[in-house]
Amino acid sequence: MIIYEPVMLAMPLAERIKDKILQERKVPSADDLRKILTSLGLEEACLDRGLALFRSKYVLALLIPSKEYITVDIISSTGDLSDALELMVYHDKKLNAYIVDILPANELEFEGNIGLEPVIIDAETFELKSTPVLGHFEKENGEIFLVISEKTYDAWKESGKLEVCPICGADELVWQKGTAYCNACGIGVKVVKK
Ligand SMILES: [Zn+2]
Repeated sequence: MIIYEPVMLAMPLAERIKDKILQERKVPSADDLRKILTSLGLEEACLDRGLALFRSKYVLALLIPSKEYITVDIISSTGDLSDALELMVYHDKKLNAYIVDILPANELEFEGNIGLEPVIIDAETFELKSTPVLGHFEKENGEIFLVISEKTYDAWKESGKLEVCPICGADELVWQKGTAYCNACGIGVKVVKK
């Protein structure tokens, strides 16, 4: 797994949180989030009353738990905020669903689009109500790929949006067998068969 920029942490983080909610049928605690962040290769740099700072070579993540929300702010370790993202986990009372959402921290300055579909999990039945295309990033022969599971691919296919890039939201994905390339953001998507 590579994490060169905020989105490369946000997507696998959202996926792990989604799996955790589906498995344990509750919103993960701040402690669960800390475990997930460390398992993704980040180092806990500082912890104070629930607030925690994590870092890796290229990104910083600030975990801010509160009663209603868990927020993870992810910024590039250079301090540049143009590609910063905010991941939020909360219970939406109107929808009665658990939501994991990834938003640009600075919409005015965000470079490029963000096409990430929120995770929506029914709070009664714990069914996944949306089709987020989440995975992790890998580098192969100099090219960067979002690697997704076959299960994720199947749900994506069923949604009928296979030509929409899961990262930037452009309508520009071109498929060649199990791999797709986005003409807009340049990132590939690879499906891993289990
Ligand atoms: Zn794209």
